[in-house]
Amino acid sequence: MSRNSVLKGFVGLVITLVLAVSLSQVAQPAFKPVIHRHASDPKAAWVNSYQIETENGVIVIDTSLTISEGKAIRAEIEALKKPLLAILLTHGHPDHTNGLSEVLGPDNVPVIATEGVDKVMRTTYTPEREESGRKRLGEEWPQKRVFPTKTLRDGESITLGGVTLTVHDLGPGESHSDSYWVLEGDEKVAFIGDEVINRAHAYMADGHSSQWLKNLDRLKIELKAMKTIYPGHGEPGSLEILDWEKTYIQAYREAVKSLAKGQPTLTEEAKKELQARMEAFLPHAPLTYLIVWGADPVAAELASEK
Ligand SMILES: [Zn+2]
Repeated sequence: MSRNSVLKGFVGLVITLVLAVSLSQVAQPAFKPVIHRHASDPKAAWVNSYQIETENGVIVIDTSLTISEGKAIRAEIEALKKPLLAILLTHGHPDHTNGLSEVLGPDNVPVIATEGVDKVMRTTYTPEREESGRKRLGEEWPQKRVFPTKTLRDGESITLGGVTLTVHDLGPGESHSDSYWVLEGDEKVAFIGDEVINRAHAYMADGHSSQWLKNLDRLKIELKAMKTIYPGHGEPGSLEILDWEKTYIQAYREAVKSLAKGQPTLTEEAKKELQARMEAFLPHAPLTYLIVWGADPVAAELASEK
């Protein structure tokens, strides 16, 4: 074989290899994360838990209220046949954190939250609180409380399974410490926890409704470019769901204000009237039992605002 034909053969091989590599790149586009929503039964507060399926694993956001729902979420993860990579929390309320031990199963993966959410959980779940939860839900309330194993500061990001998520600390709002997570990328989406309880009655009992309204204004700016907003309860949507929640909170505050007449508590009669007014404001909606829970906390909040 002449030197020339060896050279030609080599050049031909290089061209073939380059073509093969480029064709394989065309044939295998980058895996786009898939978002699965687990909407719990109304008995489990109709709460959402999300699974972000990446190329090589699953990230869970929030874990529902009951043992049964936690088990159902775990089964959904196992059906994806990819390992659980981490569990992220938006806030510490039981309807978002009670399923933790069931969703984790035997996996030793991080449970991640802001420092604020971690602190609220560690101060809220006293033996008395656990006892009253068990009285209400029996076997469906967890026997073992799981806390975050890793905390992030406001604006910190974490990369898991090839995707990056950033947490934003909102401070008090629906709970004593709220946060939201952004899935970074060309088409960003946000998981906002209970900043929105879409088209259902809201839990107002932590008494930060004024701060909650401010959070919604802040989110309207910060989530402007988001393709989809995933709420803690109800259907995902666009920026419009933030406006909807604001209207609900304003109506609730107005109703309590007119019934409390400046007092920090409502009479039993006034509570019944509040129930009727909010059910008329949002007819046939889930979670009506929450209406009365917020009556005194919001009356106290309004009385302190004067
Ligand atoms: Zn919730």
